Amino acid sequence: MTESDLPVVDFHPYRWGDPAHATELPTSAKDTLALFGVKTPEHGPVEPVEITLPAVALDAEALDALAAVVGAEHVHTDHDARLGHTRGWSTPDLLRLRAGDATDAPDAVAKPGTHDEVVALLDACSTRNIAVVPYSGGTSVVGGLAPRREGFAGVVAIDLGQLDALLDLDPVSRTATLQAGMRGPRVEALLGEKGFTLGHFPQSYEGASIGGYAAARSAGQSSAGYGRFDDMVVGLVLATPRGTVTLGSAPKSAAGPDLRQLVLGSEGTLGVITSVTVRVRPAPAERVFESWRFASFEAGADALRRLVQDGPEPTVLRLSDETETGINLADPSAMFGSGPGGCLAVVGYEGSAADVAARRAGATAVLTEAGGELLGPDGGEAWRKGRYRAPYLRDPLLDAGVLIETLETVTFWSNLHALRAAVTTALTESLTAQGTAPLVLCHISHLYETGASLYFTVACAQAEDPLAQWAQAKSAANAAIRAAGAAITHHHGVGTDHRDTYAQEIGPLAVDALRAVKQALDPAGILNPGVLIDPTTGGD
Ligand SMILES: Cc1cc2nc3c(=O)[nH]c(=O)nc-3n(C[C@H](O)[C@H](O)[C@H](O)COP(=O)(O)OP(=O)(O)OC[C@H]3O[C@@H](n4cnc5c(N)ncnc54)[C@H](O)[C@@H]3O)c2cc1C
Repeated sequence: MTESDLPVVDFHPYRWGDPAHATELPTSAKDTLALFGVKTPEHGPVEPVEITLPAVALDAEALDALAAVVGAEHVHTDHDARLGHTRGWSTPDLLRLRAGDATDAPDAVAKPGTHDEVVALLDACSTRNIAVVPYSGGTSVVGGLAPRREGFAGVVAIDLGQLDALLDLDPVSRTATLQAGMRGPRVEALLGEKGFTLGHFPQSYEGASIGGYAAARSAGQSSAGYGRFDDMVVGLVLATPRGTVTLGSAPKSAAGPDLRQLVLGSEGTLGVITSVTVRVRPAPAERVFESWRFASFEAGADALRRLVQDGPEPTVLRLSDETETGINLADPSAMFGSGPGGCLAVVGYEGSAADVAARRAGATAVLTEAGGELLGPDGGEAWRKGRYRAPYLRDPLLDAGVLIETLETVTFWSNLHALRAAVTTALTESLTAQGTAPLVLCHISHLYETGASLYFTVACAQAEDPLAQWAQAKSAANAAIRAAGAAITHHHGVGTDHRDTYAQEIGPLAVDALRAVKQALDPAGILNPGVLIDPTTGGD
């Protein structure tokens, strides 16, 4: 099975992914959880139909104005549509919804079918002081879909799902123009028919969309070979309350700052991205995935650094620390089984047969010389096949009373191990002080010549108030990342959860500059208010 074989399906409001792939915890995991003092909650989550939504705040005139743009059949105020667009997929988002709290539900969901309709919707909302949440796949894990509603007449989610066409493919330049609402599997299916791939495979691949990849600067699991999403974008079209901005008339230009980079990562605060032009690659003829063992995380990180600094570079490169290797999270089907010991790395190659053979031979020599032990294809293939399975485990873990969440950061190589130690300590101390010693796992999965990202998974028994428990731990982790001089996010984005730390990271003058750009494009401040930057206060 390849990525393009996965179906595009509707998700349950708080259970991840294709319902046909819902999973249970392996018995080995249940036994381990008991050792950590995890107790199954007395009550299961509130069923979606039982969740009460706030009354629709928009009046008939406002709803009519939206309907005049997209047609009444594309403006939804019913329970299911509003609930299905309430927040994203962070663990706090899920905990709230599971507890029956849908206070952030939008008042209406509008589904435009064209770029011009998006511009007209923004105009209608701007005139009426209605806040807007651009919504592509809805998989934000940083509070990017919960804008401030105070001071606004209501909140409208603009769902881009109808904008899901491949608008153009230029096989000579190897570019494709994709509409913002296209979810990952559809992109790969359509490009695959023409012999191309985008090569962007985040773990949220089944749910996330092109617009969200661009708006939140996503990084896929094959970023070593295909690059981050922001590396792929050569052009984009942005709808704003003041009209359209079209950027990217050539791959590179010396004309002024690269404004494409200003829109990428703007998280719906400057406008709605309706399409992007991306570079594509020929679909790979050959795929080889292998696993390697290193004696320690430090040894493995050194080996991977050599590859990204001096080559040859594989397509997928990731390294689990000792704890993650021990519970075998890299292969959820064998979770909590006996891992191979040391630290497991997955190294994958995609491309033509000759290219794969050449890079594999070169990388094998480098990794062997660096002390790695080649374990063969089984672990690598298991990872490749199970690469979208881990998120499905979160639902049964939450059901069982586990608090489980992930966070990520990025720094320069020389700071990597100090950063890992600082974040691990912050999470461990915070949660232990709250009475629940956590498991903290870490891996490297995005690497550059100058540094790498660290991705942490944290699991512990849920306290009486798991929201407060996680808020405290998350705030400790944010502070540790900041104190270590690392970036608050490598690929999840800022949203509302990282906004204050991001402001500290870039400083008040830079926050003011962003605010000024927003003022120019969105003078009424209706676009995702409170996401990315605080519209009202300075950056310090
Ligand atoms: C289980 C899971 C695994 C994940 N794994 C990864 C991973 O491997 N790599 C990774 O990078 N991320 C990952 N994420 C985070 C998330 O999937 C990414 O941030 C993704 O890019 C979001 O895409 P989306 O289409 O779902 O965007 P949304 O959630 O719809 O939106 C994200 C933000 O961008 C804004 N926005 C959405 N569409 C537009 C638009 N068209 N124009 C302007 N603004 C817009 C939204 O308002 C929001 O603030 C994961 C999330 C989950 C739940």
